[in-house]
Amino acid sequence: MANGLFSRLRDGLSKSRSNITAVVGDQAVADEDYLESLTDALILSDMGAACAQQAIDTLRARAAEAGIKDVAGHKALLKEILADMLNVPKDPLRWPMVMLVVGVNGVGKTTTIGKLALRFQSLGRTIVLCAADTFRAAAAEQLSIWAERAKVPLIRHQEGADPAGVVFDAVQAAKANGTHLTIVDTAGRLHNKKNLMDEMEKMRRVIDREFPEAAVRCLLVVDATTGQNGLQQAKAFSEVAGVNGVALTKLDGTAKGGVIFPIVRELRVPVLYVGVGEGIDDLQAFDAKEYVDALFN
Ligand code: GDP
Repeated sequence: MANGLFSRLRDGLSKSRSNITAVVGDQAVADEDYLESLTDALILSDMGAACAQQAIDTLRARAAEAGIKDVAGHKALLKEILADMLNVPKDPLRWPMVMLVVGVNGVGKTTTIGKLALRFQSLGRTIVLCAADTFRAAAAEQLSIWAERAKVPLIRHQEGADPAGVVFDAVQAAKANGTHLTIVDTAGRLHNKKNLMDEMEKMRRVIDREFPEAAVRCLLVVDATTGQNGLQQAKAFSEVAGVNGVALTKLDGTAKGGVIFPIVRELRVPVLYVGVGEGIDDLQAFDAKEYVDALFN
């Protein structure tokens, strides 16, 4: 990760880091009290009790096995264990691709789409954006601003139009132009699960029928500042939409960052990107080791 972005992630995670380092820094020998305080510090980072317990149980077992008794050794081992918990295999990128972006309103979906457009463009890929959240006029408006910033075409219909119809037009444009990546902004109406599921299915049917050669991926956007609520959203969306990967946003703010662990544990999908600001460049590919470093160092 570029240094500036890494330091923003570090700054964002400073609260969790100071909780953890307060425990790690105080003692020389890692006894049961120490492990208990460490568990609490991990829970305070939004990791949730089950994940924190799993990490510390693994730490206890592996430290005993290796005869490690000192705090520094435990810290190094815990970092490895946490990074392993976040390492889930990713589906390889394959072109052409249609990426359905899902998540509740306000989590940073549109912003992330703008950032992704720029990112893939800088990697030499051609992009088309698709405004399939037709329920809020503002959503398409906002997406058009990001499309202009990233200088990529946008397919949109009128407010209230059928989302699958917008997807139909977007994939026709992608096929006609040989576009690598179609990024679809979807509606974040999780309170109406049945409708959302029907809509997602309809969009997927259109893609399968019209663009069978395309790889279809579903990226879930989660606001890291919402803590355990973000986990509930992630579970609900994975039931409705068949999620393949997660983008975690707003890690530059007040996020404690630990929520990433239960999300990965529950969904068994990789975190692919982290958002560390509101600008178009403020998105980075996720790296488990770097992330754990930002939580600890
Ligand atoms: P959507 O409703 O899910 O499409 O969310 P938006 O993309 O409109 O974002 C909602 C708000 O979150 C906006 O004010 C964005 O600028 C802000 N936002 C999005 N991503 C980030 C991020 O990584 N860091 C910060 N600090 N703000 C972000």
